[in-house]
Amino acid sequence: KNWPSLNGNITFKNVSFAYNVEEPILENFNLDVKAGETIALVGETGSGKSTIVNLACRFYEPTSGQILIDGIDYRQRPLLWLHSNLGYVLQNPHLFSGTIKDNIRYGKLDASEVDIIRAAKLVNAHDFIMKLEKGYDTEVGEGGGMLSTGEKQLVSFARAILADPRIFILDEATSSIDTETEQMIQKAINKVLKGRTSFIIAHRLSTIRSADRILVIRDGKMIEQGDHNQL
Ligand code: ATP
Ligand code: MG
Repeated sequence: KNWPSLNGNITFKNVSFAYNVEEPILENFNLDVKAGETIALVGETGSGKSTIVNLACRFYEPTSGQILIDGIDYRQRPLLWLHSNLGYVLQNPHLFSGTIKDNIRYGKLDASEVDIIRAAKLVNAHDFIMKLEKGYDTEVGEGGGMLSTGEKQLVSFARAILADPRIFILDEATSSIDTETEQMIQKAINKVLKGRTSFIIAHRLSTIRSADRILVIRDGKMIEQGDHNQL
């Protein structure tokens, strides 16, 4: 069956969610994100920011309520419909054992060498990769254990960019990357987010400044929203 292509409108409709039944994290959470919009989530540790994006990514599903993508409850579509249109860089980036090249082209197996290197250069990963003895053919080890967290994040970034997704998630994506590198990939981030529905979670102001809307989350609730000038 051919599913319609994904635009990237995301609606949380009365979404409640708990990792454990005794401890609800979100209760009747509502949010309407238009295709192409950049949403920044800010709030204290444990307030529920990652949970919200995990639900949007369908790594977890709502306990009650619905998440609609382009107006359709995402549970009515195969997981791949969403996941083949989703790019993410998470707090604890996960790599697969295999080479750096394999990890970057994961999700776009037909990517050429030129495409892979272009993506790596865009996120400033190329230089560190070239310093490794085997370059792009370096084995990253179980879970990417041979690389630092920041390096894993850069590889994840390159992967996400190469896949050209409609929806982009950056959860503290630059938290382990030094300021200089971050400033460079900030440009890439702004370029990459343009025209895609995106969620950014970051502590650094520079990362969220350009968002269309900033949501302040506390105890699983949106307590304020506005753009950078309003808040
Ligand atoms: P941070 O800024 O530290 O990343 P956050 O806003 O992303 O925090 P979440 O990770 O969404 O917060 O966590 C919200 C709540 O859910 C916290 O109380 C946390 O302990 C709990 N939680 C998060 N992940 C799990 C999990 N896998 N199992 C059980 N509880 C979890
Ligand atoms: Mg988090």
